[in-house]
Amino acid sequence: MQRCADFHAEWMAELIRLTKSHAETPFGCIIVDRRDGTIVATGMNQSSTFRLLHAEMVALQNYSQTSRPEWRHIIVYSTAEPCAMCQSAMLWCGVRQMVYGTSIESLVRLGYKQIDIAASEVVRRSWASDTEIVERVLEADCNALFEQHQRGK
Ligand SMILES: [Zn+2]
Repeated sequence: MQRCADFHAEWMAELIRLTKSHAETPFGCIIVDRRDGTIVATGMNQSSTFRLLHAEMVALQNYSQTSRPEWRHIIVYSTAEPCAMCQSAMLWCGVRQMVYGTSIESLVRLGYKQIDIAASEVVRRSWASDTEIVERVLEADCNALFEQHQRGK
């Protein structure tokens, strides 16, 4: 399975579509098995029910409950750069590749509460520093989701 920029852009476009149809918040996440290119878990932000239920945390938990999770074979896609909690959770789970759209910097600019530590910094300071973070894929489209959400508040 190729993992070029188009591959990531296609999955990000699918994630944006899913997140829009969910509509509650722009924070969405899918997990793709890179061996066969299928979605194996999804997660939408549920922090209104419990603060730790960021989209990535929900997706990781959903994937953990599948019959045979194989963390090293998955790619996590998120509409926004994972916070330090979520990026750390991915490292603890053994996720080796993550792709995001909107940066933490943009979220801060738009007025979202954020812990200003880049996902790449969390990775760099871990034991798994060869974990790949693909940044700002379809960034303008993801930014538009967050901008619309903030305008609608
Ligand atoms: Zn998070």
